[in-house]
Amino acid sequence: MADLIAEEKIEQIRQAVDIVEVITDYVQLKKQGRNYFGLCPFHGESTPSFSVSPDKQIFHCFGCGAGGNVFTFLMELDGLSFQETAIKLAAKVNIDLGINLPQSQGGKKVSKELQAMLEAHELLRKFYHHLLVNTKEGQQALEYLLNRGFTQESIDKFQIGYSLNSWDFVYKFLSKRNFSPEWMEKAGLIIKRERDGTYFDRFRDRIMFPIFDRHGNTIAFSGRSLGADEPKYLNSPETAIFNKSKILYNYHLAKPSIKKMQYAVLFEGFADVIAADRAGVENGIATMGTALTDEHISLLRQNVQTITICYDSDKAGIEAAYRAGNHLHDAGFQIKVAIMTDGMDPDEYIQKNGQDKFRNEVIGASLTWMGFKFLYYRRGKNLQHEGDQLAYIEQIIKEISKLDKAVERDHYLRQLATEFSLSLEALMQQQRQIYFAEKRKSTGKNEPAQKPLLSFKPAEELKTKYVTAERRLIAHMLKDRDVAYKVQELLAGTTFNKDEHQAIITYLLGFYEDHLVPDASSFLTYIQDDNLRRMVVDIEMMSINDELTTQELTDYIKQVLNYQNLLKIKEKEEELKEAEREKNFTKAAEVLTEINHLRKLL
Ligand SMILES: [Zn+2]
Repeated sequence: MADLIAEEKIEQIRQAVDIVEVITDYVQLKKQGRNYFGLCPFHGESTPSFSVSPDKQIFHCFGCGAGGNVFTFLMELDGLSFQETAIKLAAKVNIDLGINLPQSQGGKKVSKELQAMLEAHELLRKFYHHLLVNTKEGQQALEYLLNRGFTQESIDKFQIGYSLNSWDFVYKFLSKRNFSPEWMEKAGLIIKRERDGTYFDRFRDRIMFPIFDRHGNTIAFSGRSLGADEPKYLNSPETAIFNKSKILYNYHLAKPSIKKMQYAVLFEGFADVIAADRAGVENGIATMGTALTDEHISLLRQNVQTITICYDSDKAGIEAAYRAGNHLHDAGFQIKVAIMTDGMDPDEYIQKNGQDKFRNEVIGASLTWMGFKFLYYRRGKNLQHEGDQLAYIEQIIKEISKLDKAVERDHYLRQLATEFSLSLEALMQQQRQIYFAEKRKSTGKNEPAQKPLLSFKPAEELKTKYVTAERRLIAHMLKDRDVAYKVQELLAGTTFNKDEHQAIITYLLGFYEDHLVPDASSFLTYIQDDNLRRMVVDIEMMSINDELTTQELTDYIKQVLNYQNLLKIKEKEEELKEAEREKNFTKAAEVLTEINHLRKLL
């Protein structure tokens, strides 16, 4: 465990780091007015509700409520502890923390067991690679790869290796280095024999492809058989360090290229990624034999908005591309789809037609998402046949109706009109009909037919009023230390009605005791409670007038107090009823006077 980091160091880091710069590594931000906006990395969305304020050095999402300063951002997104975040940021801005750093850098707090799993994978990756490249044992495997078009460069880049044809080499190799066999079994590297409890190696006589996580740690292997051994590809099982639904093959190497090119190419398998890389497509990634998950999508979202899907062009591949495309499209990505002739896969295509053609005529000539659907719905139909033709046109018009932009709708309707020699006017009319029919269907499904109009009872109206008033007061108190004390004085011992609001101002007044100047980001570090912190960020992002006039201040305070008076009136009304029931008329008259007095204050 590292030593504690001194408070002044934290403060120093906070002042040296720019939140916009840090977040840009994860989210594409666009400047709009004073703030930056982008797609929230904490929840799936297609229109940006995530904003970053460089002035206040805080971020906030209107969609999911996430919010905080640069520390909270990294802690929540990368799952780091406060200490780890401080270490990471200090390194970024070259601040010497003057403490002993723990061995592992970044990542979650790694337990001994996980650390050992990672170390074993790391050792084996190096060893397998060495066997392939430098030894007689690996020679056959190396020749096999070179014959299949692999280059030395790509073997090094992807750290491809070879596992010996031995039942216990890895077991002995790791045991000699004091790795616990139980842990190594959990890591998926060796397997326990049921009958006698001894262990044997999972990967034997295979070409080894290491799988890396987003930080470049080796966390699993895929071993390809050299001969007819089944399965052709043998993968590590899911383990504490290898979760297929989170891993995108080659993500750590492709990331810079993805950012530069502003798009990623999604392949079906890692072998395609390597083949495409040799052809100069360096922004390729692949899932590890699973469909695309929400976790994959949120990882992608951090770096890119456009994805080119390049799956096998056979029937199964096209179906899979359609599913992946829909998933990505719903998550707000721009989609393109690369298609190869004759149902080929990327590797076959490159072998047959060469690298340049793959780059230019497949990836470079990708279809738009809509263009792909034209092709998708055409499959299995004979468009010379009238019935098929009509069915096809209707499917396409339905898809066109989903497009947001009139220009796009127009473009594809024209394309359709030209192809089938139809009147554009008729197509447009049909498209509008479909659009409204779909719209009726979807509103019918999601909302009650008639929503009652919102009608506020007086108490509720007062409630929203005091909530707004309290929020506005807090917003001004966050900006101005004097206002904070002034509000406290005017409340004269009364507290804010909303408990969370009261908690925030209690924190804030504590903060102002040793901070003479307001500082949004620093204040967030001071608040321990997640929920309150999010609320503060939400309030910080409200737009308020620069100056708080006395009139405004008095109004807000009045609204805060009003609600309390209203509660008192309610209490008194109960008392009144009670007194009337008991026929205690003197009491009733007294209470009534009090009620009238309180009502006048509202
Ligand atoms: Zn969000």
